[in-house]
Amino acid sequence: MTKEELLKTYFGYDSFREGQELLINSILEGKDVLGIMPTGAGKSICYQIPALMLPGITLVISPLISLMKDQVAGLNQAGIHAAFLNSSLTYGQYRKALQYAREGRYPIIYVAPERLMTEEFQDFASHAEISMVAVDEAHCVSQWGQDFRPSYLKIVEFINALPKRPRVSAFTATATKEVKEDIIDILMLRDPVVLTTGFDRKNLYFGVETPKNKYEAVQNYLGQHQAESGIIYCLTRKTVEEVAEKLIKDGFSVTRYHAGLSDQERKKNQEDFIYDQCRIMVATNAFGMGIDKSNVRFVLHYNMPKNMESYYQEAGRAGRDGERAECILFYGGQDVVTNQRFLERNQNPELDALTLSLVRERDQERLRKMTYYCFTKECLRDYMLRYFGEYGDNYCGNCSNCLRTFETVDVTEIAKAMLQCVAESRQRYGINVIIDTLHGANTAKIRQYRMDENSCYGSLSKVSAHRIRQVLNHLLVEGFLSLSDDEYFIVRFTKKSAELLHNGGQVLMKLAKEEEQPQKQAKGGASKKKTAGISMDEKDETLFETLRKLRMEIAREAKVPPYIVFSDKSLVHMCILKPQNKEEMLQVSGVGEYKYEKYGERFLEILKNCGKSEEKS
Ligand code: ADP
Ligand code: ZN
Repeated sequence: MTKEELLKTYFGYDSFREGQELLINSILEGKDVLGIMPTGAGKSICYQIPALMLPGITLVISPLISLMKDQVAGLNQAGIHAAFLNSSLTYGQYRKALQYAREGRYPIIYVAPERLMTEEFQDFASHAEISMVAVDEAHCVSQWGQDFRPSYLKIVEFINALPKRPRVSAFTATATKEVKEDIIDILMLRDPVVLTTGFDRKNLYFGVETPKNKYEAVQNYLGQHQAESGIIYCLTRKTVEEVAEKLIKDGFSVTRYHAGLSDQERKKNQEDFIYDQCRIMVATNAFGMGIDKSNVRFVLHYNMPKNMESYYQEAGRAGRDGERAECILFYGGQDVVTNQRFLERNQNPELDALTLSLVRERDQERLRKMTYYCFTKECLRDYMLRYFGEYGDNYCGNCSNCLRTFETVDVTEIAKAMLQCVAESRQRYGINVIIDTLHGANTAKIRQYRMDENSCYGSLSKVSAHRIRQVLNHLLVEGFLSLSDDEYFIVRFTKKSAELLHNGGQVLMKLAKEEEQPQKQAKGGASKKKTAGISMDEKDETLFETLRKLRMEIAREAKVPPYIVFSDKSLVHMCILKPQNKEEMLQVSGVGEYKYEKYGERFLEILKNCGKSEEKS
C-alpha cells in the first residue's frame, strides 16, 4: 500500500498534515529525521506509517508507560499489530511479547529506555531486523529541557551496539535552540532532515483573566460549558484539593490528580477522566504527560505556571482533535509569590554552586516572561510565538486581548500617588502593604507598621483595590518600580521612578473595559450548543448523544478509552454527514477500513434510523 492508502485504511484520514509527508518521505529514503511539532500536530503517524512500509521492526522509544499503552491500544484498534515492552508487564508476558516479536508479528514495538540495555533485550535486538529507531519525546535527552531523563542517554549506546545502524527518527514538541542541538548531538543523528512546523495552534483560543474571585470565575465558566470535558491546573496539591472539593459540592463531575495521592487512586482518577466517567480533571502539573485524550475542550489554569514552556505544554492538551478549544489562565498576584517559593526550594544536589545559580537565574527569567504574558496588552498568541522564536501576526483575533476592546487610560495620578507612598515608607514594604495603605485598609498589619499614620494613607481610597493593583503591576512591568530579589519582594524605586516624580510625564495604560457579565450568548435565535467546537442543532445534538452512548458501550466491551474507538470529531462528522452505507461511512474523518469492519455497522444502524434530515440552512 502507498502511504496515502495506509493513512486512509488504518487511520481513516484523507490527507497528510503539514510536515508529515516530508518526514515520512525522508524516513523512507533512509535518512535520519528530527520532527519538531507542537502537541497534537500528529507526530506519531510520521513514524507509524513508515514502520508499516519498511521491512522488519520499528522500535519506538517512549518515556511513559501510559503513553505507550495508549498508542499501542490505538494501533491495535486500527488493525495494526503493535506491542509494548515495559515494567508494567510480568516477566511471563514480557517473554511472550519478545517471542512474538522474534516471530515477526509486530511491525511496531514500543520500548521503555530502561529496557534497552538489558541483556535479554539486546540479545533480541541483535538478531532482529530493526529498520528504524524512533525516539518519541526526544527532548528528554536534554538537560536543558523540562523532563530530562538520564535513561535517554543510553539510547545512542544501544543503537551503536546494533549489528547494523538503523535510521533514527526523533520527535519532540520542545522548540528551543539548546534542546534541538542537544537532540541532534546526543542521539548522534546523521545529517538529519530537521522539520519544525509552526507552533501556532490555530484551533486554540487563549485568554488571560484576572478575576477578583477565581473560584467564581471558574465555576461560571464550567456552568457555561456543561457538556464539555476539560482540565483545571493548579499550582499546589492543596489548591487541587480545595478546588476539587468545592466543585464537587457545587455539583460538577470532577476528579483530581496530584503526586500526593496513592498510585492506585491516581490511576483510577486518570482513567475516570480518560474514559469520560468524570468530566473535569483538577490537577497539578503531575497530570498530563502522556495523556492523549483528544476531546479536551478546555484547559483552565487556576494559577499561573512557572514558565511559558509549561504553560504551552499544559494548555496544549486542549483540542488535540484539531477542533476549537479554549485555554484560559486565571491570574492572581499570589501566583508569582508561590512560584518564587518553588524556585527557591528547588535545590538540585547534583549541581555545583555556580551551575545552580545559573539555573536559578534562568528560571527567574522564565518566570518573569510568564508573568508578562499575564499582563501584556498585545496579542497573546503573538507573545507566545515570539517567546518560542517565531513571529506571529500582531493580531490573531482569537485571544482575549484581540477580542476585548481596550481603552487607553491615563493613570498618571495613581502612579504618582504610588511612587509617593513607596518614598514615604522608605522602600521598606511589599506590594500588599503599599496597596492597603493607598486604599486605606484597616488591617492589623497596617496598624502594626503604623502605615495608618503615613501621609499617603487612604490617598487612593476612591480607586478600587483591584485597579490599584493593576496599576502597580503596570508600573512593575514598565519598569517604573521593581521588586527586590530576596524573599520579601520589597517594592523599590528605579531610574524611571525618579524621572516621573521629578520631571513629570504621563503614564498611560491599556485597560480592558469591564466585561459584561456573565452571559456570552449569541443574540437572537435559539442558542446553539457547541460540540467539539462545532455548532449543532438540537436534533443533531441528540443524535450525537446517542452515538456517544454507543461509543461508551463499545469502549467498555473493548476496554479502551472512548476516544480510541472514535474521536468526538468523527462522531460530529457522522452527525453532519449522516452516512447511510459503508461507502459514505468511510468518508467520515477518522473512520478507516479496519475500524469500519469492527464498529461501522453498529453506528450505521443508529444513523440509518434517524435518516437524512431535511437540508439544513
Ligand atoms: P502528537 O504526538 O504530535 O501530539 P498525535 O500523533 O497524537 O499528536 O496526533 C494528534 C491527533 O491528530 C490524533 O488524534 C491523530 O489521529 C490526529 N491526526 C494525525 N495526523 C492526522 C491527519 N493527517 N489528518 C487528520 N488527523 C490526524
Ligand atoms: Zn490575539
